[in-house]
Amino acid sequence: MSSSKSVIICGGGIVGLSCAYYLAREGWAVTVVERNAEDADSCAQGSAGYVSPSHVIPLAAPGMVWNGLKWMLSSRSPFYIKPRLDADLMRWGWLFARACTPEHTARTAPVLRDLCLGGRKLFLELAGLTGNAFELRQEGLLNLCQTQECLDHETHGLAKLANELGVEARVLDARQTAELEPGTRLEVAGSVYFPNDAHLSPRKFMPALVGLLKPLGVTFRWSTSVTGWRTAGGRVTGVQTTAGELTADEFVLAAGSWSPGMIAGLDVRLPLQAGKGYSLTLERPRFRLTKPLILTERRVAVTPMGNQLRFGGTMEISGINDRIRPERVQQIIDAVPAYFPEFTAEDFAGIKPWSGLRPVSPDGLPYIGRFGRHPNLTAACGHAMLGVTMAPSTGLLVAEILGGKKPSIPLATLDPDRYA
Ligand SMILES: Cc1cc2nc3c(=O)[nH]c(=O)nc-3n(C[C@H](O)[C@H](O)[C@H](O)COP(=O)(O)OP(=O)(O)OC[C@H]3O[C@@H](n4cnc5c(N)ncnc54)[C@H](O)[C@@H]3O)c2cc1C
Repeated sequence: MSSSKSVIICGGGIVGLSCAYYLAREGWAVTVVERNAEDADSCAQGSAGYVSPSHVIPLAAPGMVWNGLKWMLSSRSPFYIKPRLDADLMRWGWLFARACTPEHTARTAPVLRDLCLGGRKLFLELAGLTGNAFELRQEGLLNLCQTQECLDHETHGLAKLANELGVEARVLDARQTAELEPGTRLEVAGSVYFPNDAHLSPRKFMPALVGLLKPLGVTFRWSTSVTGWRTAGGRVTGVQTTAGELTADEFVLAAGSWSPGMIAGLDVRLPLQAGKGYSLTLERPRFRLTKPLILTERRVAVTPMGNQLRFGGTMEISGINDRIRPERVQQIIDAVPAYFPEFTAEDFAGIKPWSGLRPVSPDGLPYIGRFGRHPNLTAACGHAMLGVTMAPSTGLLVAEILGGKKPSIPLATLDPDRYA
């Protein structure tokens, strides 16, 4: 590839920056356009930081339509769709419901596995390059089940599928679970342990990645918003920004939940909803955990990050906004003592909740690939609950696509035109 080829990446979240890294490494002249300042927050920063090959079942899974309808009635449920009259939301909901089939899971699970395992491998490389500045730890992940019914469900569902796909999953009883996490009392029937999952401190990962990008010559346009596009002859020729028009050979759409809005006017259809999640970070927790945990029935993630302990969860489809709904934060707090009786609501007193918007496609798969209508515009968005895990493998794929190489993961199911 000629080093004179240029690419503009629209959006500087974890996915955009990862694309920048793998493209710059291949000799592209890379510019990142990000509307926020360099040290601003982004969706990855307050995330649970899981690097999770165990997440092989897409959000749009069998049973989710029934659960979703049940949960929709309660704003305290783990998955909540705020009812509103919005054609995009209704279409998204219909496409989501259509994807909740066993056939869809069977078709997509191997793709999720490959993107997640790829991410894990690349994070190990990045940890080596940065002196592990982002505290990547390979402690596995424990899916805790309070009830035997839940444990049986996980055993015959996720654990079975994961093992079939070559992602090791071990079903543990209560005693075996307690042995793996001896620092605090657990009230569980058992757990599924995924020894190959990892976790990191996302607030340390983002600056570490920027630190790798700068010596590679990447140009950053922080505090600059993309406002429109210029096209000619079926190609994108420029991107209009608050700092003027920028031109390049190739363009990457990596604006997370804002991606559909960013390409409004390009006559491209990209169903995607923002899925708000919340997290609470204890600076000095009274109890030490060594492993990331999922409180399975309550869909709450718990991650040790250095000396801190982070609790995250909820999926709230309520449009693009950063409104904190206290009842949804409370749902996370209430879940904790049910599994860890030594934790109380007092542990969370005064902790400021963080919220972030996951970019959620209807079928639980990201959009990665060139748009048919504008072949020099490539999508890298829609990673929902797995944007941290999949960021490096997405970046690598985008570099392969733009470099005309054979993609390391087949692109058919990730096609951004699949709903066109
Ligand atoms: C509570 C919670 C826990 C999570 N836990 C995990 C986890 O454990 N593991 C995991 O893999 N994933 C997790 N996720 C999901 C993950 O955080 C997201 O999928 C990922 O961060 C999305 O990254 P992104 O770069 O696509 O989007 P974003 O981070 O949203 O980045 C998009 C960027 O585009 C910019 N932008 C938008 N519009 C414009 C414009 N007009 N001009 C210029 N720039 C623009 C935005 O400012 C933003 O910086 C979690 C998410 C939440 C909310």
